[in-house]
Amino acid sequence: MNDLLAGVELGGTKCVCILGTGPEDIRARVVVPTGDPEQTLGKIESTLDQWRTDFGPVAALGIASFGPLDLRPGSPRYGYILATAKPGWRNTDVARRLGRRVTGPVGVDTDVNGAALAERRWGSAQGLDDFAYITVGTGVGVGLIVGARTVVGFSHTELGHLRTRRLAGDTWAGSCPFHGDCVEGIASGPAIAARTGATPELLGPDHAVWEPVAFALGELLQTLVLATAPRKILLGGGVMTARPHLFGRIREHLGASLNDYVDTDAIDGGLADYILPPGLGALAGPLGALAVAADAYQRD
Ligand code: ZN
Repeated sequence: MNDLLAGVELGGTKCVCILGTGPEDIRARVVVPTGDPEQTLGKIESTLDQWRTDFGPVAALGIASFGPLDLRPGSPRYGYILATAKPGWRNTDVARRLGRRVTGPVGVDTDVNGAALAERRWGSAQGLDDFAYITVGTGVGVGLIVGARTVVGFSHTELGHLRTRRLAGDTWAGSCPFHGDCVEGIASGPAIAARTGATPELLGPDHAVWEPVAFALGELLQTLVLATAPRKILLGGGVMTARPHLFGRIREHLGASLNDYVDTDAIDGGLADYILPPGLGALAGPLGALAVAADAYQRD
């Protein structure tokens, strides 16, 4: 046994296996394309087996996965991927199956919760017990940390699917197959592409689509501020990275929406310091799995 941690980030198009102790100490990284579950999990198992041979047993394994996931302790399907639209992956055991490849504790959480935990441990949210990490990309996901823990009730939260006020005059139906015009159905990359016929990177900052996108995200942030009083909100993902001008518009909408009602140093210090890009960039996903492993190790 040593202090090395193994992480597996399960994504819609690829899975990243990572071995190390943190961002400054990554010993190995293997990318497995996401195909059918049997093949994909088989390759991940081989990677974990190989690492055990090369590096010795790891202290813990962390899994950060696309959802929805069963995260209820004691549930017979704990660590399963549930009703995903991804072909073949519905009701797939991930945590128990991969957990058999290690001797240490196993942690599992959603990909966005994992990224939030990584930001808290190594990135822009260090020292914060209450904050939110939002990714705006192929979906809209919110990693929510309240009282130093991710929020789990009967399930993890799904704030990207919140239905909010619509921008006045905007009647586009939205692209979420479940809800139409929820935040994800308005502001995700696929929603923007469905509405405009172009990917976000190809749409200039003055394109009309950014107004409803920024409005929907501003509404989501307002709900987060009022519901959990986060000390910071980190906003990342492919859409935000491609179009950083959205930060200004989202801050503007949030400020107008709160209308000076919420009075705290965090927000009064300036929304520019309150709504920030994440610190770990593209590494937030795989490091999220490592952070889940680190938490599992500390809990054990
Ligand atoms: Zn939805």
